[in-house]
Order: sequence, then C-alpha cells, then structure tokens
Amino acid sequence: MITVDYLVVGGGLAGLVVATRLAEDLDVVVGVLEAGQDMSRNPDVQTPANYYKGIRNPETDWGFFTAPQDGLNGRRIYLPRGKGLGGSTLLNLMQLGRASAVEYNAFEQLGSKGWDWAEFLKYFKKSEAFHPDSEDITEFGLNIADEVHGKCGPLPKIMPPRVWPVHSRVMEAFVSVGIPFNADPVGLFFLSEPNQPTLDDAPKNDGANAGCWTGTTAIHPGQHTRASSASAYYEPNRDKSNLIVVTGAYATRILFDPKESGDLVAKAVEYHKDGEIHVAHATKEVILCTGSFKTPQLLELSGIGDKKILDPLNIPVIIDLPGVGSNLQVLSHYHRPFVVPIYIALEESAEYMTTRTGLLSSAPMSAFAFIPLSLIPHDRKILDGANKLDFSGDPSASAGMQRAFQMQKEWLMNRDVSFLELATISSYLPNTRALPLEGRNYISFVLGLLHPFSRGHVHIRSSDPFDSPTIDPRFLNNGTDVELFIDAVKLVRKVVNARCIKSAIVRETAPGPAVQFDAEIIEYLKGNVQTIYHPIGTAPMFPREDGGVVDESLKVYGTQNLRVVDASVIPLQISAHIQHTIYAIAEKAADIIKGASRSLSFSSTLIQRQPQSSAHKHIIGRGLLKQRRPVPESWTNAKRLTAGLPLKPPVRRGNAVRSLSPVPSPSASPRPPSLSTPSGSHSETPSFSGSSAPSVTPPTAPVLSTRGSFGCTDAETGEFVGYISKDLNAFGQYTRTTDSTKRLVLEIDLDAARLGPVDMMAINGGESNYPFFGGVTGFSSTNPNLSPSSSNYANLCGTSQTNPGSPAQIWPNTFSEYSGDAATWRYDSALGVYPQWINLDGSKPALHLVYVPNADMFSLTGSVEAFRASFGSVTQCSLSFVPTAASVPTPTTSVY
Ligand SMILES: Cc1cc2nc3c(=O)[nH]c(=O)nc-3n(C[C@H](O)[C@H](O)[C@H](O)COP(=O)(O)OP(=O)(O)OC[C@H]3O[C@@H](n4cnc5c(N)ncnc54)[C@H](O)[C@@H]3O)c2cc1C
Repeated sequence: MITVDYLVVGGGLAGLVVATRLAEDLDVVVGVLEAGQDMSRNPDVQTPANYYKGIRNPETDWGFFTAPQDGLNGRRIYLPRGKGLGGSTLLNLMQLGRASAVEYNAFEQLGSKGWDWAEFLKYFKKSEAFHPDSEDITEFGLNIADEVHGKCGPLPKIMPPRVWPVHSRVMEAFVSVGIPFNADPVGLFFLSEPNQPTLDDAPKNDGANAGCWTGTTAIHPGQHTRASSASAYYEPNRDKSNLIVVTGAYATRILFDPKESGDLVAKAVEYHKDGEIHVAHATKEVILCTGSFKTPQLLELSGIGDKKILDPLNIPVIIDLPGVGSNLQVLSHYHRPFVVPIYIALEESAEYMTTRTGLLSSAPMSAFAFIPLSLIPHDRKILDGANKLDFSGDPSASAGMQRAFQMQKEWLMNRDVSFLELATISSYLPNTRALPLEGRNYISFVLGLLHPFSRGHVHIRSSDPFDSPTIDPRFLNNGTDVELFIDAVKLVRKVVNARCIKSAIVRETAPGPAVQFDAEIIEYLKGNVQTIYHPIGTAPMFPREDGGVVDESLKVYGTQNLRVVDASVIPLQISAHIQHTIYAIAEKAADIIKGASRSLSFSSTLIQRQPQSSAHKHIIGRGLLKQRRPVPESWTNAKRLTAGLPLKPPVRRGNAVRSLSPVPSPSASPRPPSLSTPSGSHSETPSFSGSSAPSVTPPTAPVLSTRGSFGCTDAETGEFVGYISKDLNAFGQYTRTTDSTKRLVLEIDLDAARLGPVDMMAINGGESNYPFFGGVTGFSSTNPNLSPSSSNYANLCGTSQTNPGSPAQIWPNTFSEYSGDAATWRYDSALGVYPQWINLDGSKPALHLVYVPNADMFSLTGSVEAFRASFGSVTQCSLSFVPTAASVPTPTTSVY
C-alpha cells in the first residue's frame, strides 16, 4: 500500500504544473500517476518542427476518434491527445496565446468568483518567461507592454527563432485585407499604419488579441527545443524526493471513504501498471488532470455523473452530477494547402542537429490573424442565424451552458472577441482532394472557428475503463458555424490574392478554383473539416445549480477533496490557443490548494539536485519511507534527500576548525574595534555591478576594515528583493529577509583586500563553524570553476578562510564528494565591495548573482542564461553593500 499527501492523476500539462508547485512545500509528498511514459527527452518530441511525428504514434498519442459526425457526412474525426509526461504539450504546435479580457471575465460572470482577467493575468505572468531581444522587436514589429508579460516563470515564451520565408508577406497580406496589425497580441492593440483600419489606438492591457501578429512559442531559448510542461516544470524537479512520479500507471477509478454524512472524501485511486492492479492513497487530496476526454471518463467510472448515463451501465451513482461530460466544445478547422515555390533545403535537419538553428528550430506556424466579425465583411445571415439558435429545448443544456451560449451570441459583434482564426502552417496538411507532390513546397492556411456554436459531449460507453469514451463534438451541427466557415474561406482567397503575396503562390491545391459557390464550399467543408486540438468544458466550472461539475476552487461538487485541474473545467471556448490558459489555471489551482491564492510569489521550482534515481518509477509514500532500513551515518545529504530522510546539519569539512582565526593583515595594523564607513575614499553607499569584473586598482585608502550589509534588487525590474539575511536555510545557505533587523552584518578587511579577493567575516549570524561569507560550489556543479558559458554555480554560504587571491579550495561536503569553497569578495574604492570568484587556474570570471526563491538562497554563476536553462527561472540581482553607518540600502541599477 502506498500513500502520498496529494495524488495528481495525469502528468500532462496541468498535472505537472500542479504537482511541481505543490511539491515546493518540502513538507508534503506529491504523487503523480501518468498512463504514458517519460518521452520528453525524445529527439522527435524535442525538435519543434517535428511535432507531427508524435501524432498517431501510440507511444505519445491516445489517438481518439469522434463518433460519426452528422454535420460532416458521417465522418469520424481523428482526435490526437498527448500521452506521457507533458501530455498534449508533447504533441502540440507550441503556440502560446491569450484570449481577450472579455472572455476571461466571462468565467466570473458565469458564476466563478475570482476567475477574471486580472487573476488570469497574474498567473500568465507567473508561468512565463518572456525576454524578446532587440532583433525580435525589429523583425516582428513588436511594441511590447512589459506589464502584461512575465519574466521569471518556468515556461519560456519566445518569438519564433526562424520564420518561414513567406511570413512577412502573409502578414502584409492580412493587413491589406483589413486585418489590423497588432504589435503585442497579449498587451496593447497598436495599429501601426495610419491608413489601415483602426480598432483602437489606445493602450488597453487587456489581452486584446485581435488583429494579425507573429505568434509567440513555447520553445527553450538557445537550445531551441520544445518547452512542454515536462521540460519546463518537471525537469528541474525531476529528482525531488517529495515528488514521486509513476509512469505507465493507468488510473481506472477514484475510491472514496464509505459515506457517513456530508460530502465524500476521496481517499485513493485504483490504477493498472504492468498488468497488475494497484492502489495509491492520498491523505489530503486527489487532483484529476487527465484532460477533457479522460477526466469525464474517470469521474463516470467512479460513479460521479449523470444517473441516466450510469444506471444503464450498472455503475452505482455516488454523486449525481449531470454536468459531467456534457459541455464539450471543440474547435473545428479546415485547411487549404497552397503550393509555394520556395525551396527548403534538405540540409535543414542537419543544420538543426548541429547548430540548433534553421527551420526545424521553430514551430511550423508563425503568422496569425484573429478576427472579430466586426472587422471583416460578413454575411448578415450569420447574425440572423445565431439569434435564432436556441438551446432551451435541449434537455442536455444546463442553465450554465445556456447562459454561456447567450453570452457567445452577444460577442458576435464585440470588436474584442475574435470568431475566426487564420493561420499559416509551413507544410502540406493532408486533405481528401489532393496529395502533396514530391519536390513541391506548400503552405497551408488553417481556418479555425474560435467560438463554435455546437455543443457536444463525452461519456463512457461501458464500465470497462479500457474502452474509449464516446466523443461527440457535433461538428457543424448548426447553420451559424457553417456560415462562419464560408466567410473564412472567402477571406483566405482574398488574402492570397493580395498583391504582396500573389507572386509567391503558384496555385491553390484544395479545394481548388472549381469550388466557388456557397453550396460547393459547404460540400467541401463537410468532407474536409477537422479539429483544432482544443477540447474543453467537460467538467465545467459553473455553480452546481447551473449544471457545474466543479466550483470556483475546482473542487468536484459533493466531495471534500477531489479537484479537477485541466482543460475540462473551462466553461466556454475562448479565442486563443488554449495551452497558456491551462497553464494559468493550473498555477492558480496550485495556489488555491496551498491555501495561498492571494500571495503570489514568482518562485522558481529549483531545488538542490540529487543524483538520478529510479525512485520516480515507483511510488514511494510516506508509509514506505518510514519502513526503510537504517541509513549509514556517512550518507551525504544528497542521498538522504533522495531517500526522504531528514538532513544532517550543514557541516562541510572534517577539519572544520582548521582556519577559524582571521589571517593577519599584511600590514599587521591593528583592526579598529568597531568600524563604520571608511572616510573619503568612496561613497556612502558603494555598490558595484557589471557583467564583467572590473580591473581593480589597489586602493590607497588607509588600513581599514569596514562593516555593513548587502541589499539586493531585481536587476530586471529594479524592485527591492531584500537583504541578505543572517539566517541560513536547511542547507546552510544564506537566505533573504526584508526585515532590516535581520540583515547579515559583515566585515571586510580592506587592508587584506589590497592583495586581492578576500574573506568577509559574518558578525551576527550564519554559521559559527564557518564564519566567513563566501561561495560553496553547488551540488550539481561539475567542477568548482565558474565560467561565462557554464551553469556551474556557488551558493552563498559560510566558508572557512582562504588566503587573499587564492582559488577555490576543494573539499568534500555533506552534499557531494567535493566542493569548491572560496573567498569571493573584493574591494575597490570606486566600486565598493563586490564578489570575485577565482577559478582553479587563477582566472577571475565575470560573476552574476541570482536569487533562487524556492530554495531561498543566493548563488553566484558565470552565466545566468546557462543557470536558468539548467535550473529554471530565478531572479537576477544587483547587490549594494551598505556600511553600517549608512541607512537603508539604496537599490542600484547595476546588475550582476
Ligand atoms: C496535436 C496538438 C496540437 C496542439 N497545438 C496547440 C498549440 O499550438 N497551442 C496551444 O495552446 N494548444 C495546443 N494544443 C492543445 C493543448 O496542448 C492542450 O489543450 C493541453 O495540453 C491540455 O492540457 P490538459 O492538462 O488538459 O491535458 P493533457 O496535456 O492532454 O494531459 C492529460 C494527461 O493525462 C494523462 N492521462 C489520461 N488519462 C489517464 C489515466 N486514466 N491515468 C493516468 N494518466 C492519464 C495523459 O496521458 C496526459 O498526460 C494542441 C493539442 C494537440 C493534441
């Protein structure tokens, strides 16, 4: 029997976000059951342009089909869904987008308090790291509203590393047919060209995503590999001992405590692994994250759902919740391939493999137009038809669904809400009319209906958990969706006929020029419409009386501790590629679960790394850990952490007492008993920064020591991060405080500093065995050198003394077989006190200081980029040393 505190079912997008965020609390054990395997390091998964290789591959794709669709000539549509750690983020096209404020505010208007644009914005920012450079800004004409983008989240958001050669012509063509250019599709709605149609040229900060723009993508910068929830959230936490991931574990049922009275308590989940049935127990909560198709299936298999569905299948109903599986909304799209005479060298693949550049480094889509109907000529029939659509007679339409439906009708003429999407894909998307010809190059226009009026459902068809559920989106089951599509088809023809792009296109392969009349277009649509991969709504967040399945805390009605966190809680379709919204939902869910939804902290998920273990293959709960055999005293803390054991106190050396006494200063001048700011030679609040170490002229100041503390500011935002605290974390590293009375007070011997980098002594705290303030190379560092390209780092810890100017000393410590300890401080009369590491060969690398919120520690590294790439996002800081006589530190703009 195995037991964890939080049991997350489904290690997909939302599952891994929730699990890693919950596991930030080292006092809880989080378990994840994932049916698929760990595929995130597979080269095909990682290569952005190879996204299609995962589709229809049973290892990474569940490969669902819809029920036969009446609106599509009875066709069954293929519905890919990601399987494995990362879920559908293993297969997706990596587009990151947001819908408009109006649409997020609708969540609240539909009855879920606390779910509005402001709240979504908070979590969009928490999840992402966006750092467009000047080249991006010029190339894509960006005008970024900084306040709506996050900088420190785990999920990288970048502009496409490389765009398809017709990208700019497509953008121009969009503008030429009246779709305004949007310079920041999640921030401001700037319209650049004075002669272009104008929606609004005032800043809005409300997500305004209408217009045409270049899509941002979830790709790791530099390495240009796919950023999935597995690579962005799980990878930095892979070895955490309180995060236990079981792959190949197919959950089949949620088990509850026998009901006595009141709401049910979920206590365990039954799952199949390697042909055997297991049970995982949860002491606090079970969190369902199995996606829009499997979540309703699991609820129904567990007896939560519509009695009318469950009774005939002989599944005892434990909570009669008719909303389960009822509100399915799937975007439909169809695509139109065009032949383009642009040659793509076959060497692209080789280029990517060797330099991580070229077309394979990018997602295959880049130019997008999101179009509110009011922006384009549209058939009056659309509005008339929509007004006539009525759901009230449909017995499966809950009050919540009807209100959402009504809202959607009202949005038809809302100039902020896009109904159509046009996107280009740099390849041939298959269709029934024509096959791609060898040696030809294609561009496909994807036409998406962003707010389909059709509503469908997902329900189990038997009590066998291995039976796929029936998925019926009812594509094009109403005239309005068809009319909208017809307008989209006509619009694309206008786009490709625009003067700026016409010459780049040889011909339309499908449907082809023969298809012109509406009736012909409808026939073509019926034969070709597919899905855009954004199913939502099958466990909707509505009030219970409105047919909801979860409340605003994402808790399933009738339960005390079962939540749903995935795309199925979204109550109505939004005009955006949906993954970023799900990241935001999962981030918020984690805060709700932690009971801290209001105290947002941009914490990274970084912790000390431990050696790779197979622990994540087998769930190890608390009970099991307690029964482990006794552990040798000699185990390092790394091993102990992996085994979930309490850590030993941070003793780093066998001969710790070796060098406690300060080195006498060369001049042998007596040190003044209490020292304040040295006079004359430097400013009151000296500070230094810079990405490279300055050349240091020995000061001519008199022999002095000086006392003071370090204040720290966020180098990117200029916000005050706090002081370096006198208190240590569990690993013996200096922490941060905003309480000035808890500042670490340090003393530097300026006389000794004339000889080169020197120790600083901790006066009021830290560690008595290691009273010097310096760097200790991090556990996962591969050697004690810090260099411009490596992610090696040194944590600010107590050290023993090193001679002025000497390189890092190598010692074993409680974490690993070796560690580099060094004095890292230097004094300059103009620059004040600043860190200076010395590598083994005597070189002095440029240093950057980062604050790692989750581990509450500061680290020095030679490369913030490399450090972030290895460990996730952190705050890059600037330091200012404030002599004790001075008042509160003045934040500096200088950067480490
Ligand atoms: C081909 C494709 C392209 C897409 N392109 C984009 C895009 O470019 N931009 C965008 O924004 N969105 C895109 N999406 C959509 C986006 O990826 C999904 O909406 C999102 O990943 C859904 O997140 P989720 O957490 O709800 O589910 P998922 O990410 O699908 O995760 C569900 C997880 O649960 C696991 N699971 C299911 N059942 C069980 C069970 N019984 N036991 C254990 N584990 C189980 C699954 O294996 C999976 O890992 C795309 C999707 C697809 C399929």
